[in-house]
Parts: sequence; structure tokens; C-alpha cells
Amino acid sequence: MSFAVLGAGVCGLSTALEVQNKYPNSKVSLIAEKFGRDTTSDVAAGIFRPGPSFSGPNETVTRKWMNDSYAYWDKLRLREDASLSGVTQLSAYVFSSTDPSIVRNHFLEGLLPLYRPCTEEELSICPGDWKYGSFFTTVLTECRLWQSWAQRKFEQNNGKVVQKQITKLTEFNGKKYDAVFNCTGLGAQKLCNDVKVVPIRGQIIKVRAPWVKTAFYADYDTYILPGFGGIVTLGGTRSYESYNMKIDKYDSLSIRERCEALVPSLAKATVVREAVGLRPYRSSVRVEHELLKDSFGQPLRVIHNYGHGGYGVTTSPGTAAYAVHLFGEMHRSKL
Ligand SMILES: Cc1cc2nc3c(=O)[nH]c(=O)nc-3n(C[C@H](O)[C@H](O)[C@H](O)COP(=O)(O)OP(=O)(O)OC[C@H]3O[C@@H](n4cnc5c(N)ncnc54)[C@H](O)[C@@H]3O)c2cc1C
Repeated sequence: MSFAVLGAGVCGLSTALEVQNKYPNSKVSLIAEKFGRDTTSDVAAGIFRPGPSFSGPNETVTRKWMNDSYAYWDKLRLREDASLSGVTQLSAYVFSSTDPSIVRNHFLEGLLPLYRPCTEEELSICPGDWKYGSFFTTVLTECRLWQSWAQRKFEQNNGKVVQKQITKLTEFNGKKYDAVFNCTGLGAQKLCNDVKVVPIRGQIIKVRAPWVKTAFYADYDTYILPGFGGIVTLGGTRSYESYNMKIDKYDSLSIRERCEALVPSLAKATVVREAVGLRPYRSSVRVEHELLKDSFGQPLRVIHNYGHGGYGVTTSPGTAAYAVHLFGEMHRSKL
């Protein structure tokens, strides 16, 4: 069989690897306008922590995506080459001074090996009037490492990589490809004329702070996430429908002030880089099939897999598995 996977962010690469895994003798082309450092995925802090608002078509499918994704990342972090694939285990505190519901996460409660409320003593680890808190152990994926690792693996499995911007899905030949997987993130807004896809702008600062070993979240979208090589991601911001890709100096000041208030030793951490990304948000992540007609009028199977918002690293292995499963169903029923 022959497949095209559109998009080389975390969702496209997860899907491409899953297609090769399920159909080992197939020809797979990974086609994207941008790769690696030029994708939104590269900006992600990469923690496995779905927001409570994350949603697939229904609760059962959404939970399956979470469970499959966690199993995938947890397996990778136990492998010998985990430092190359960029996956590690991480413990985190979430604090709030305003509302107990902020520190609870119904997706994580039943899924992670360790998830519990903070003790009174833990609520005073960081400066601040913290009234509520939770503590959990999860995984973190450094996408800069994982995307290189995944693309290498894809090419070693005879996958073909093509740099190209696609303007219409129907430019694919339905006779040549058994299916096209559309993992274009925010690009799906134009490609599918999908007005439900909107950006949620996020800005982060990467600092060198090897002494920070635990992650912290606090009110007003404040987070401190240690990754690989002593680099810690400080965040964050969330601006709905903003397309501004420039670093905003007021956002930088606000992020540093909030993070240093939480962990004062960060004041001596040096900046490695700052970055902005547009999270590809859709109220319900779109993983579904569609039967189009190509420009010759031939049927063209498209499986969409986009709209993961702020949780694409968390959930991409699960949605990729689901997308490939949908193709299997289409193929079996000869659609
Ligand atoms: C500041 C910030 C922090 C984040 N932190 C986390 C986190 O801790 N955990 C988490 O789970 N998620 C996090 N995210 C969210 C995560 O980054 C996204 O959900 C994820 O990167 C989406 O991946 P994607 O593959 O769908 O999109 P992208 O990475 O944007 O990739 C899209 C791909 O499609 C290609 N493409 C688009 N249109 C076309 C076209 N017409 N033709 C050809 N190619 C096309 C692009 O070139 C690119 O290769 C964060 C995001 C931001 C901005």
C-alpha cells in the first residue's frame, strides 16, 4: 500500500511511525512545508498533562487516546535510547490560591502511577499563599530531540521525506495513495477551510537552571518545567486568536516575574532562548475520515488528525493510533 502523511510536527511524525508499524511493507511519504525547529511542536515544553477541556468526539474515545498516549511515552522513556528520543519521567506540583478545581485533573487522576493532593507541608514549599495543591509523576518529551529521533526512525524504515506546501488535499492522486493522513495542525484551517481551528498563542523562555528538578504550576498560567541538559522551560501565556509570532517583551517580563516569585532561585538562571508558538486549537480534536474526489474524479481517502491545541505532545500517539485504525476500518469496508 501507499500512504502520504501531511505534516511533520509531533502529530504527523507519530502518525507516520504508526502507519509504518501497522503496514510494514507499505510506501509512506511524509510531506510538509516545515520541519523540526520551524514547527509549533518544537516550542512545546512537552509535559504529559492534558487540560481538562481537551476533547475528542466523546469521553470514551478521548480517554482511549490518553491511555494509549501515556503507554507509548512511558514505554519510550524506559528504553535504553530514551536520552536520544527525549522522553523522561518528571514529578510536578500544581498550586492554586483561588480554586481547588484548578489543581485537579480528571484525566490524570486514574492514569498516572502517582497522583495525590499536596500535604500542608508541601503547600509551603514555594513562596505564596497556596491553599490547594496536587502532586503527580508524569512524562516529558523534549520535541526537539523526539522529532529528530522519530524522523530518523521513519527514514530508516524506508519512509520518504518531501518538503512541499500543499494547497489542496485534492491534488493527491486517489489511485496512487491508499490514504492521505492530514496532520497539518493550524495549517488545516486553510487546507480544510475549517473555521473551528484557531491559534492560541504561547510564549516561553528556556533558561539554564540544572538545580531545578521538579515541575511547578501556579495560577495565571505560570509553569516551570525542567527538561533535558539542565534546561528549564518557563511559561506561559495563552492568547486566543492571536497570530503574533514575535517575542513580546512584556510577556517575557511577566513570565520571569511569575516564575521567580514561585521559585526565587530562577533569578540567577541565564536565558538560552525564547520562543513563540501558535497552538492549533479546535474545540473537538478532529480525527475522522473523509472520502473526497481527486482532480481526476477518483475517490481519495483522507484521514484527518489535527486540532490538538496545547496538548499535541500529550495526545499525539493516541490520536495517531486512532487515525490508522480509522483507515483500517475504511479499507476493510472497501470505502
Ligand atoms: C508555548 C507552548 C507550549 C506547549 N507545551 C505543550 C506541552 O507541554 N505539552 C503538550 O502536549 N503540548 C504542548 N504544546 C502544544 C503542542 O506544541 C501542539 O499541540 C503540537 O505541537 C501540535 O502538533 P502538530 O503536529 O499538530 O502541529 P505542528 O507542530 O504545527 O506541525 C504542523 C505540520 O504541518 C505542516 N503543514 C501545515 N500546513 C501545511 C500545508 N498546507 N502543506 C504542507 N505542510 C503543512 C507544517 O509545516 C508542520 O510540519 C505547547 C504549545 C506551545 C505553543
